[in-house]
Amino acid sequence: MEEIVVIGGGLAGCEATYQLAKRGFKVKLYEMKPRKFSPAHHSDTLAEIVCSNSLKSNSLSTASGLLKAELGLLDSIIIKTARENSVPAGDALAVNRDEFSRAVDKKIRALKNVEIVNQEVEDFPTERTIIATGPLTSDALSKKITAFLGEDNLHFYDASAPIIDGDSIDYLKTFNGARYDKGESDYINCPMSKEEYELFVEELIHAKRAELHDFEQSEIFEGCMPIEIMASRGKDSLRFGPLKPVGLKDENGKRPYAVVQLRKENVGGSLYNLVGFQTNLTFSEQKRVFSLIPALKNAEFVKFGVMHRNSFINAPKFLNKDFSVKGYETLYIAGQLSGVEGYVESTMSGLIAGISMAQKLNNLPFPDLSSRIMIGAITSYLVAPNVNFQPMNANFGIVAPLDEIIRDKAERKVAYSNRAIRELSRIGEEYGIITKTDC
Ligand SMILES: Cc1cc2nc3c(=O)[nH]c(=O)nc-3n(C[C@H](O)[C@H](O)[C@H](O)COP(=O)(O)OP(=O)(O)OC[C@H]3O[C@@H](n4cnc5c(N)ncnc54)[C@H](O)[C@@H]3O)c2cc1C
Repeated sequence: MEEIVVIGGGLAGCEATYQLAKRGFKVKLYEMKPRKFSPAHHSDTLAEIVCSNSLKSNSLSTASGLLKAELGLLDSIIIKTARENSVPAGDALAVNRDEFSRAVDKKIRALKNVEIVNQEVEDFPTERTIIATGPLTSDALSKKITAFLGEDNLHFYDASAPIIDGDSIDYLKTFNGARYDKGESDYINCPMSKEEYELFVEELIHAKRAELHDFEQSEIFEGCMPIEIMASRGKDSLRFGPLKPVGLKDENGKRPYAVVQLRKENVGGSLYNLVGFQTNLTFSEQKRVFSLIPALKNAEFVKFGVMHRNSFINAPKFLNKDFSVKGYETLYIAGQLSGVEGYVESTMSGLIAGISMAQKLNNLPFPDLSSRIMIGAITSYLVAPNVNFQPMNANFGIVAPLDEIIRDKAERKVAYSNRAIRELSRIGEEYGIITKTDC
């Protein structure tokens, strides 16, 4: 049997290793711990959970709940072990981090055809390889990845503005149009009166900010100022910055006092990002303060703004939907490094990379999962042309619309989930990728 190299024994790397090993392939898993630790990793074991112990909701009325159900269907070792080591957390799947990580470690070590090599990989791989070295990929390998992909195609920081569901915008309080009528009217403009703007700035300045890790403190804000810091420099600084109204006229031909612009985040236009709203506020404060923008009073945030250390590639340029690299059949990039965001999403990419590589080596087809399935929705997002690409998490905004209209939001989300599970079950059986084992 062919030997495959997996670099990085985190969530994605362990998932990929397991999927390949259970299909009979020999895997050499390189993990640099415990010889070398990233600034956020501390334990000796594989599949370390570096921060929150929550893998988010189990409910099928949530995108993360659906993604976990899909991964369960495809026999994810990470999701199964998380359930076995869960702690009470309402409808969320939260784990005892040490026990979870020890349990995954034990299961991977017990796989007969897996060899674990505790060594930092410093050179770019030449064999059949899945690179899953995560958001804190070591410097030596990062340099090699940059050399391979070209400058500007491996990012080291994620400073992204919040993304909202287009359906949750109050369009009665917006107008379309480009500044000075130049270019396409692709922007949705959210005007604010003087009173609304001043209240917004006041709340923004005093809102609670997220704490940065020590290793992020010095570098993170270079080249990208959070909107709350800009606001604190003077009450009009935003009106001369991202909220400037010049060149914009509402339906009455009047220039508003201030304008927040929304830009399409995906080709379909179901998601929008708040232009210039890079922020380090806590998620709850982003919801509270940004909902003061009149058109966004009931906005649904599918992804909050983040400013953190995060290595990720320019996925639309380099990746196929199965996480293989365009033009390089035997090279895959999975995990956070591939441009997905979050524990469960990283697990998903490791799982898809592992299964699809196994199918390819066995001369079997791998299905093109549609956007009706959460896995397919995320992978479609990753590969769609996008000049402002930012990492993405599971959310219903990127899922293909339902055929029927369901007004109730919770019911609609459950309908998305039921449809996805039906379709994945059918396709999974058809392609022989639903196989259970006792791990
Ligand atoms: C500080 C921090 C906090 C986070 N908090 C959350 C959170 O609360 N919730 C959430 O959903 N997501 C969070 N994330 C994102 C989270 O890291 C990912 O969601 C997930 O862990 C990524 O999985 P992964 O397998 O891609 O990478 P990781 O789990 O980080 O695994 C990568 C592995 O590769 C190893 N490695 C790196 N370079 C090399 C090399 N050259 N050779 C060999 N081994 C190497 C590392 O030691 C590590 O074990 C956080 C990320 C960071 C950095």
